Amino acid sequence: MRHKSVLFINKVILFLAVTGLIISILLDFLSEPQTTNRDSCILNLRMIDSAKVSWILENTDWTEENKPTEQTAREISPSTLTGLLKGGTIPICPDGGTYNLGNSLEDPTCSLSDDGHHL
Ligand SMILES: [Zn+2]
Repeated sequence: MRHKSVLFINKVILFLAVTGLIISILLDFLSEPQTTNRDSCILNLRMIDSAKVSWILENTDWTEENKPTEQTAREISPSTLTGLLKGGTIPICPDGGTYNLGNSLEDPTCSLSDDGHHL
């Protein structure tokens, strides 16, 4: 009798372990799109930042002695970057956030930065 109850408990433990494994795989699979959208947004912000750096290098005479300051920072408009970005357009946040390009001293930001959409 005792042997049967130990066998039953082992089966229950095995069932719970397999069920837990399946649930963890499903949760990981279901949560993946949100992570992918955030990662895509961060990639977009990096592309925008790279385009800004390219534009700054081509259009300013800043040197080691003549460093940019808040007073000399230049505004960056979307039209100045479109020629430097793949496809010729500012990328779009996959979760619907809006991008703020910032000036030449600031990083570009997404309106969903509280959700991890930031550099
Ligand atoms: Zn975003």
